[in-house]
Amino acid sequence: MAIKYIDTANFEGKKVLARFDFNVPLKDGNITDTSRIDKALPTIKHILESGASKLTMMSHLGRPKSNEDTQFSLEPVAKYIAEKLDFNVVLAPASVDAGVKELLTLNETKIVLLENLRFHKEEKANEMEFASKLSHYADVYVNDAFGVSHRKHASVHEINRFFASNAYAGFLIKSELEALDKVLNKPQKPFVGIIGGAKVSDKIATIEKLLTSVDHLLIGGAMAYPFLKSKGVEVGNSLCSDEDVKLATNILKADKVGKIKLPVDHIVSNSLDGDANTCDDVKIDEGMIGLDIGAKSIANYCEIISTAKTVLWNGPMGMFENESFSNGTMSIAKALSESSAFTVVGGGDSVSAMNKSGHADKVSHISTGGGASLEYIEKGELPGIQALKFGVN
Ligand code: AMP
Repeated sequence: MAIKYIDTANFEGKKVLARFDFNVPLKDGNITDTSRIDKALPTIKHILESGASKLTMMSHLGRPKSNEDTQFSLEPVAKYIAEKLDFNVVLAPASVDAGVKELLTLNETKIVLLENLRFHKEEKANEMEFASKLSHYADVYVNDAFGVSHRKHASVHEINRFFASNAYAGFLIKSELEALDKVLNKPQKPFVGIIGGAKVSDKIATIEKLLTSVDHLLIGGAMAYPFLKSKGVEVGNSLCSDEDVKLATNILKADKVGKIKLPVDHIVSNSLDGDANTCDDVKIDEGMIGLDIGAKSIANYCEIISTAKTVLWNGPMGMFENESFSNGTMSIAKALSESSAFTVVGGGDSVSAMNKSGHADKVSHISTGGGASLEYIEKGELPGIQALKFGVN
């Protein structure tokens, strides 16, 4: 069964319950990056402009231990959405119980944001009873929380049990699935995958999957050292666990035609906050830590990227939070922005590097859900999306 998107739904006079990912960063009670909310606005506006009689929104925020963790209240989110819509947004005191049902019967509550779903442990436990209570608020369910759809949580998974033919995906999920499907199903060749970050074990399944479809897989960041070590190259004191070397060895064995490309030089230091030194050799001296890919590696990678028709990037090329070790990551961001290929960037760090480069608008798609996009690449499906299509048994 195909997924149903909100542009095919009839919301006229309907009560709509919609799950978003409003898990925004907060500092002193203020939102420091509103992009997750901004990306949900087209779906919110569409529901309201399509004549819905009531919109009840729900989200989680952070990792509260209980409902006493008031710093995780969605109050700043409710305020921000109200400003953006120029309409009153009522924050309900809880997601369920606490008089929420009565509150929703009032005429004044046209747009409601339920308080943090994770104030209730039942949300993460995917409890049917909790999902059932939520479902009583509305006639139609919308999921636009792509970044949470790899989780079997009540508001994205179990809840579908109660909206058999009345469940829709929002515009954010639509754009994520369209972009990722374009990369997964018959990508235009050459297809170049770029994987970086800290640990092979975190991305092993994604790497294995990508190896079947890419023409080149460029590896950078700390991820590269287990691969180099597995090939017998000394990596000094670089981040490199025995477990990751084992995984890298297996991946290299599976790579029969040499799709995997590794750094040939590095930027190193004797400590994580020490001075940056050039290491022209592939081998890193004892006592030194590899913290970025070097100039020759950047040139090699950019050359390959320039030939690509499809590019997928996840994970930084070094410890880019420190400017001395950010050149590799920023050079990849620039190469993607200059590419005419279909370019998809996922994962918090690569996305923030892309934003920092000032060229985020030049890539084809920026994925909002790091974990969700990796899992979708690996499995071609997510529990929340599957439940939206087929319901829950
Ligand atoms: P991940 O969440 O796996 O994408 O990893 C991202 C983190 O990896 C970032 O915080 C980077 O600073 C870190 N990282 C990338 N390359 C290195 C490196 N060579 N040494 C230490 N940390 C690194």
